[in-house]
Amino acid sequence: MKTSTAFDLTGHGLTVAEVHRNLPPSSLYEHAIRFEKDASIADNGALVAYSGVKTGRSPKDKRVVERPESKNDIWWGSVNIPFDEGTFRINRQRALDYLNTRPRLYCFDGFAGWDPKYRIKVRVICSRPYHALFMHTMLIRPTKDELSKFGTPDFVIINAGAFPANRLTSGMGSTTSIDLSLEDKQLIILGTEYAGEMKKGVFTVANYFAPKRGLLSMHCSATADKKTGASSLLFGLSGTGKTTLSADPKRHLIGDDEHIWTDDGIFNIEGGCYAKAINLTSESEPDIFQALRFGAVLENVVLDVDRMVDYTNVSITQNTRGAYPIEFIQNAKIPCIAGHPTDVIFLTCDAFGVLPPVAALSPAHAMYHFMSGYTAKVAGTEMGVTEPQATFSPCFGGPFLVWHPSKYAELLAEKMRKHKARVWLVNTGWGGGGYGVGKRISLKNTRAIIDAIHSGALKTPKTERDPIFGFDVVTEVPGVPSEILRPRDSWTDKSAYDATAKKLAALFNKNFETYAAGASDEVKAAAPKA
Ligand code: ATP
Ligand code: MN
Repeated sequence: MKTSTAFDLTGHGLTVAEVHRNLPPSSLYEHAIRFEKDASIADNGALVAYSGVKTGRSPKDKRVVERPESKNDIWWGSVNIPFDEGTFRINRQRALDYLNTRPRLYCFDGFAGWDPKYRIKVRVICSRPYHALFMHTMLIRPTKDELSKFGTPDFVIINAGAFPANRLTSGMGSTTSIDLSLEDKQLIILGTEYAGEMKKGVFTVANYFAPKRGLLSMHCSATADKKTGASSLLFGLSGTGKTTLSADPKRHLIGDDEHIWTDDGIFNIEGGCYAKAINLTSESEPDIFQALRFGAVLENVVLDVDRMVDYTNVSITQNTRGAYPIEFIQNAKIPCIAGHPTDVIFLTCDAFGVLPPVAALSPAHAMYHFMSGYTAKVAGTEMGVTEPQATFSPCFGGPFLVWHPSKYAELLAEKMRKHKARVWLVNTGWGGGGYGVGKRISLKNTRAIIDAIHSGALKTPKTERDPIFGFDVVTEVPGVPSEILRPRDSWTDKSAYDATAKKLAALFNKNFETYAAGASDEVKAAAPKA
C-alpha cells in the first residue's frame, strides 16, 4: 500500500517509523484485512473485528492518578481507584515499549464535543487498524483543514491493549489496566482490546472537565424536535434503550450516549453511535440495521458462511456491538447540537416487572431516581437462576463519574428547574410479572410512550399515585393498551406483585443509605415506602 505519510510521534516517546495518521476507512479496512488476525468484511459492508478475551469494559481495572491538583475533586472509591504517579509512568512506559515493537502504528486525531466553544482535541495512538477505525467512527472527524491545524492534543489515548499489564506492578489487580491521569491528560490501556474502553475514557475525561466549567455531562441519548429544535434526553444504564429509542425517524438524532448541557442547550460529545447488535433485525430497528454498512465496525459478531451477520449468535459474547458514524442515521442533525430539553426521561429495564411503563416524576422524585440510577439485569445463564439482579448506578452512569454524584445531580436539578423540563420514568423492562413469568414490554409500546411524551399528548396526563413508589403512574397513553400501564393490574398474582414491589422498594432504600446524608428532606421523602 502506498498510502503511508509518516507522522511523527517521537514527542510521545514512540519511535516506530511507519505511522499512519487519520487514514480513511477504506485504507483502515485494507490494513485490517492484511494485518489483523481475524478481521473480515461482512455482506453488509461493515468491518468485522474481534476484541479478544475482553468483550466488555473492565471497570475494576480502572485507576486514576492521585495528585494534589485534582485530589479533592474526585469521588474516590470503587469507581475511581487511586494510584500514584510513579505507577502510572511505569504502565505508560510499558505501553510505549510495546507499541515501539510494532511494525506500524495508527494515530487518529479528532474532536470530542460538537460545540466548538467546548470541544477538546483527542489523539488516539494504537497498533490495531480496528481500534483506529473505531475511534474514527466514534470521535468527531476533523475536516482536512482542521486536521492540518490540529496542533497539540488536549487528551491522548495510548492503546497498548494487546499487551498485558505487569501483575507485579504495585496496585495492579489483574493483567488489565486502564490508567487515567487528569493532569497529564492521558489514558493508558493495557491488557484489554475492547474498543469501548477508549470511548468511555473520553467520556470520563468529559465528566471531569465539564462540571469544572459549570457544564453538565450526561450519560444519555438525545433527540430534537424537527420544528422547534428543542431536545429530549434519555438517561439509562447499559441495555435500557438509549441507543435503540434515540433512532427515531420522527425526531432529529443528536446522539446516542454522551451529551453536555450548557447555558445554550445541549451537544453530543461523540461523532458516532455504538449500538448493541444482539438480535438486531431490520423490522424492529431499521435505522440502526441499515447503518451497519461500509464504514461501520461490527465487534465480536459471528458471520454465516455466506458472510451474512448472524445477529442472534452470541457465542462470543452477548455484548456484540456495531459502531457507525452518526451521519449514517438519516435523521441525525449535523452539527449534533440542540436546544434545551423539554423532557428528561429516565429509562430503566426493570426485570422485576414492578415499575410502570411510564410515570411522571416530581422534582424530588426526579432527584431521587437520578441519584439511585436503577436498572436490573437478568441473572446469568446458570441453570434455574431466574432471579433478576438489581443494579444501582448514580446518575445512570456511575462507572464514568469523576466527581461525587451529587455534583451532577445538583447541576441537573438546577438546569431542569431553569428550563422547566418535565421528567419521566420509563420502564423498558418487564411487565405482567417479572423475568420468567411476564415479558419484556414491546419496543412498539415503548416507542408509543416516548412519542406521546414528545408530542405533548401527556402534557396533562391521567395519572394515579403509586402507593409504594409515590410517583404518578400514567394510566392513559395514546396507542398503548391501558391494561399494561398499571403494573399491579398486569400481574395475575397480585400478592406476588405486592411482595416483589416491597422487595424492590427495600433495595432502593438500602442503596440510598449512602446518599441520604447529603439529600434534602424533599428528596428523602421521595423514597419508596417499603
Ligand atoms: P449502552 O449504554 O450499553 O449503549 P443502551 O441504553 O444504549 O446501552 P440499547 O443499545 O438501546 O441500550 O439496548 C436496548 C436493547 O434492548 C436493544 O437490544 C433493544 O432491541 C432491546 N429492547 C427490547 N425491548 C425494548 C424496549 N421496549 N425498549 C427499548 N429497548 C428494547
Ligand atoms: Mn447505547
